[in-house]
Amino acid sequence: MHKDRLAEVLETWEPVIGLEIHTELTSMNTKMFCGCPVEFGGEPNTRVCPVCLGMPGALPVPNQAAIEATVLCGLATECDIERDSQFHRKNYFYPDMPKDYQISQYDRPFCTDGRLDVAVEGDGVTQRIDTAELGAAEDGSYTTRIGITRIHLEEDTGKMVHVGGTEGRIAGATHSLVDFNRAGTPLIELVTEPDIRSPEEARRFAQRLRLVWLTLGISDCNMEEGSLRVDANVSIRKRGETEFGTKAEIKNMNSFKALHDGLLYEIVRQAEVLEQGGTVIQETRHWDAGAKRTSALRSKEEAHDYRYFPEPDMVPFEFSDEFVEEVRGRLPELPEAKRARFIAGYGLPPHDAMVLTSDLELAAYYEKAVAQAGNERAKAISNLLLNDVSAYLNSQGIGIGEFGASPSAIVELVTVVEDGTISGKQAKEVFTQMTASGEMPSAIIERLGMKQVSDSGAIEEVVDRVIAANPSEVEAYRGGKQGLIGFFVGQVMREMGGQANPKVVNEVLRRKLEG
Ligand code: ADP
Ligand code: ZN
Ligand code: MG
Repeated sequence: MHKDRLAEVLETWEPVIGLEIHTELTSMNTKMFCGCPVEFGGEPNTRVCPVCLGMPGALPVPNQAAIEATVLCGLATECDIERDSQFHRKNYFYPDMPKDYQISQYDRPFCTDGRLDVAVEGDGVTQRIDTAELGAAEDGSYTTRIGITRIHLEEDTGKMVHVGGTEGRIAGATHSLVDFNRAGTPLIELVTEPDIRSPEEARRFAQRLRLVWLTLGISDCNMEEGSLRVDANVSIRKRGETEFGTKAEIKNMNSFKALHDGLLYEIVRQAEVLEQGGTVIQETRHWDAGAKRTSALRSKEEAHDYRYFPEPDMVPFEFSDEFVEEVRGRLPELPEAKRARFIAGYGLPPHDAMVLTSDLELAAYYEKAVAQAGNERAKAISNLLLNDVSAYLNSQGIGIGEFGASPSAIVELVTVVEDGTISGKQAKEVFTQMTASGEMPSAIIERLGMKQVSDSGAIEEVVDRVIAANPSEVEAYRGGKQGLIGFFVGQVMREMGGQANPKVVNEVLRRKLEG
C-alpha cells in the first residue's frame, strides 16, 4: 500500500480513529485478585491458584496497588477520578478464561473524561490535512488534543497456543493448549474519543501514552510481549461531513509501525468499498503484518452480548478526596513538563528537547552529563547525543542503557573539542575508539598522540609553504574568488596530518592571503 494512494484517498475522505489500549500492570508484584506473582513467560501453568483458575467458590481480593496505579494513570491524563465505582462481570465463553467471565468495569470505571496532547511532526500525507486550524508551524508540525473517554481496570486472560498447523495460527492447527500464567494479571484499558484523524496521529498518541505509562512506572509496556496492546477503531467520512461512518476494529497490531500500517491499509480499503457503492460492515478485523492486509475476524460483539452485571463477590468502591490527593502526590514529572524544562532550563531548541525526553534513559543520561559539564555545554552535549551517539546506537540496535561510554566520557569529549585540544575530525576518531573500548577520551588522545596543533608559529610555516606552492590559486583568491579558502585550508590540514586547529589555520591563511 503506497502513501501516494493514501494521499489520493485523503483528498476525498477523512479518517476518524479511536483507540482502545490495554496495558498489563507488569510492575505489580501480584495478580489482580489473588496472590500469584506477575511475571512474563515461565513454565506454563505454574503461576496459578484456585482464584485465577476460576475454581468454584474461590473469592477474589482486589489488589490495592493496582487500583492506585489506575488512579495514577487517570491523574496523569487529566481524567476525573470517579468517587463511586465498582467491578462488573463481563460474561463470555473463551477457553482462555476458565471462570467464563472476566472481572472488568462497565458503567462505573475509575477514570473518565481525560485528555492527552500529542505533538505531530510534519511528514506529509500520513498526518492531518486541515492543520491550519490547529495552528500548525511552518514545517507542518502541530499539537492535537485527544480526548480520553475512560480508563478502567480488569484482569487479563490466559493465553492460547495453537499447535500442529502453521505456527501460532488457528487454521490448520491440530490442537490448542492453554497457559493460565497470564490469567488474572492486572490490566488497564484506556479508550479514546474518536478524535484521531490520521495513522500518524494514532501512532504518536500511542507512543506518547506509552511514555507517560513508562514515566509512571506502572508497566514495561513491551508491545512484543503483549504488555501494551493497541486496538484501533477506524471509519471514514466524506470531507465536510459531520456524521461518522461505520467503523471497523483492527486487532493484532504489535508494534507502532503495525498500528500505522494497519490503519493506512484499512482506510484505503474502506474508501474502495464505498467508492464501489458498497457498505463498510461493523466488524473486528485482523492485521496480518506479513501480508500487509486486514481480514475479517468476527462480527462485532455488542455490550448486551456480555450480560454485564455488578460483581457480587466485591463491594463497590468509594474513593475519598484524601485518597485521590495522596495518589496525586505520587505523580512524577510527566513527559510534557520535562520537555518544557529541557527547553527552559537547558536552552535547548524544541526538537532537541522532544527527542531527548522521548526516551527516559536518554534523558537521564543527558541530565547526568550536563550536571557535570555545566549548562553552557548543554547544546553541545545534545548535539553529540542526537547525532553521533544516536547513529551509533541505531547501527548497533541498542539503547542508551547498553551504551559503553559513560556520561563523563561524553563530557570529556565535548570539552576537549571545545578547548581546541583535538579537532572535530579527530573527535570522530576518538568517538569510534571510545565506543569500541570504553576508554576515556583523554586516554585515547594520549595513546594515539593526537594533540591538535594550535601553535600559530608551526601553522604559519606550513601556510607559507602552501601559498608558495600554489601561485595561480593565490592570484585567483586575491582576484575575488574567496571560496578558494576551503582549498587552502584543505592543503594545510593535509600537510599537518589533520592535526591543525582549523580555526587558527583559517585565521593565518586569511591574514597571509589578504595581507
Ligand atoms: P462500541 O460500542 O462499538 O464498543 P464505542 O462507542 O464504545 O463503540 O467506541 C469504541 C472505540 O471506537 C472508541 O475508541 C471510540 O472513540 C471509537 N469510535 C466510536 N465510533 C467511531 C467511529 N464511527 N469511527 C471511528 N472510531 C469510532
Ligand atoms: Zn492466582
Ligand atoms: Mg464500547
